[in-house]
Formats: sequence, C-alpha cells, structure tokens
Amino acid sequence: MAGITLKGVRKAFGSTVAVDSVTLEVRDGELFFLLGPSGCGKTTLLRIIAGFEAPEAGRIVIGDEDVTRLPPEKRRTGMVFQNYALWPHMTVAENVDFGLKVRRLSAAERHDRTAAALKAVRMQDYARRRPNQLSGGQQQRVALARALVIEPRVLLLDEPLSNLDARLRSEMRAEIRRLCSEAAITSVCVTHDQTEALSMADRLAVMREGRIVQVGRPRDVYQRPENRFVADFLGETNFISAEVKGAEAGELVLHAPMGEVRARGLREDTPRSGNLTCSIRPEAWRIEGDGSAVAPAVNTWNGRLIDTAYHGEAGRHEVELDGDVTIHVLEANPRDRMRGQSLRLHVDPADVVVLAD
Ligand code: ATP
Repeated sequence: MAGITLKGVRKAFGSTVAVDSVTLEVRDGELFFLLGPSGCGKTTLLRIIAGFEAPEAGRIVIGDEDVTRLPPEKRRTGMVFQNYALWPHMTVAENVDFGLKVRRLSAAERHDRTAAALKAVRMQDYARRRPNQLSGGQQQRVALARALVIEPRVLLLDEPLSNLDARLRSEMRAEIRRLCSEAAITSVCVTHDQTEALSMADRLAVMREGRIVQVGRPRDVYQRPENRFVADFLGETNFISAEVKGAEAGELVLHAPMGEVRARGLREDTPRSGNLTCSIRPEAWRIEGDGSAVAPAVNTWNGRLIDTAYHGEAGRHEVELDGDVTIHVLEANPRDRMRGQSLRLHVDPADVVVLAD
C-alpha cells in the first residue's frame, strides 16, 4: 500500500500545456477521482502517474519511492483502460494470468492468484470464455481482475464506466468501490461524469485547463465550491448577483434584486464587501405555503411558476422571483402545480454559498 505525491508536475504537447504545476497528495488506501471537462488534462495526469507520459518538470512519488524516471512496468501500478484492452485471442483466465506469467511466478501460484482475482470480481464461472463472449460489464470486471492480480501498489482507472449503459454503470460503481476498499488499495480514477465522482470518491480534485482548482471530499466540494467554475461544473446551480450590506449574528447580509439574502458558514477568504455572486443549488429551495411549515422570516421571497419539467421522483421548476431573477428549483415528490401560480420560496442561509469570482 502507498500514497501518491505529485509535486509541481507539468506536461506540454507543443504549445498546449496539458498539465500545469500540479501538486497533489493522494492518501494511502483512498479512492481518489480526477474530474473535469474534456481536455482539462486529467488523462494526461493519470498517464504521468502510470509512467506512460514523462513530465517536463516535477516529481512523482509512490509510497516513499521517487518513480519520476521509472518506466511503467517498474512502478507497480495496475491500469484499467477505457476500452478495457483485453486480448481477444486469450480466454478470460489467460488475460488475467498474463501479468503473472511475465513476472515468471510458479504455475501453482499463478493458478491460485488468477482464481482468487476472478472470484473477487465474481467472474470465476467465465474463466474459459473469450472477451467477445462477454458483456461490457463482464469485460470491465475482467479488466479489473487483470489489474489487481499483480497486487499493484496503486490502481489507475481511465474513465472505467464510460462504455457501459446506465444500469450497468451504477452496478459497476458499487463494484469498483467494493473492490478498492476490500483490497485497501490507493486508486486514482479519471472521469468527466460528476455523478460518478460524487458517488464513488473518498476525495476528488476538480481540474481546469491543466490545473487543479479544488480538492476535497465530494460533499465539501459540492456544498462549498471555492469558485464559480467548480459550482457550475459540479452539478447545477443558480447564480445570483448581490451586494454586501454587512454582517449580523455570524451571517453575511447581502442585497439582491429579489430582496435581502443571508449567508452562513462562509469560507475564511470570502470577501466581506462589494459585489459578489451567490450560488444556491436547485435542491436547496423549499416551497412554502403547502399547508406545512410557516414561512420563516429570513431568505423567503415571492415568485411565480413559469414552467415545470416533471421527472417522476422530482419536479424541476423554473421560477421567476421578484426583481426579475429566474431560478431553477428541484422539488422532490412534486405537487401538481399550475403555471403562473404564486409561490413563497425559502433557502436556509447555510445553503447560500458566496463566491468571490
Ligand atoms: P477527455 O476527457 O476529453 O479525455 P482530458 O481531461 O483527459 O480530456 P487530456 O487527454 O489529458 O484531457 O488532454 C489535455 C490536453 O492535452 C488536450 O488539449 C489534448 O488535446 C492535449 N493532448 C493530450 N495528449 C496529447 C498528445 N499525445 N499530443 C498532443 N496533444 C495532446
């Protein structure tokens, strides 16, 4: 087992800087995600950790070994590729066994370890099949077994679920989490799918244009984005411009077009004056006046329902607040509402995130 330390890592392809001054600590045994839009450099960073790309600057340390100059096969990392990269002419068992064979282990040990790896991914009954006789999810399991059988220090996964349909993807999310935690192996997974990262990661890094813009637990990064880019990339949000009026009882008091807004639980570096942007997630809004709670006094505004998209388990409303502010509101177990209907909407000050940019 081993953590990964990246220090000042940089990689350019011609004039494109794919990875720029990346310093990052992946802790021993954690499932860490690199997340970001297409072209932000996450695959290049993963390939640098694996040793398939050489950085122009910076160091890569696995455990306490500096591997910056080591070739991939000497780094003791296991890689799962996006397209699985299974050998079509070999059976499932031969695919898994291959890494042990090149390491010249004894036949008995190879047999036992291959059987154990196939059992871990629940593919022991498919050992004699060839990859083209397997479903996408089964191929993915074999690719995982093949990476894990060599007992790597670090498991690297490049968009492992992108070729699977929605149901299989959700099944394999749980499966990969189970395998990584059973093997207690440090794992780095690349994805552009924020739901995947939020639901699977112990911690994640959001990347933009080769740089890391925020690192943290999924809940912290989602609920406390540090800037507009992260708030917008990780899920949906409503941005509302506001001006700071002052502070009261640990809350920042702001003036927005729909009225007074209060925000609590601010980051230390949040500016306390001037014009700012508030980010309020669609699911943070409460629709008052359905016979349930009495509307609280703070952060409660009037609005008019413009339109609703019904999703069964939730309704996604477009609402126009006083002051010409249009927002999106997510209502779980949605009531049957009419277009044009007046609404009272409330947001807990703890759900108002104040962004500096
Ligand atoms: P995606 O999600 O689309 O795979 P990514 O975040 O993984 O994107 P990278 O594949 O790391 O991004 O690419 C980062 C940048 O580096 C992109 O602008 C890409 O075009 C460029 N790039 C990556 N590999 C090469 C290469 N071998 N030669 C030239 N440019 C490259």
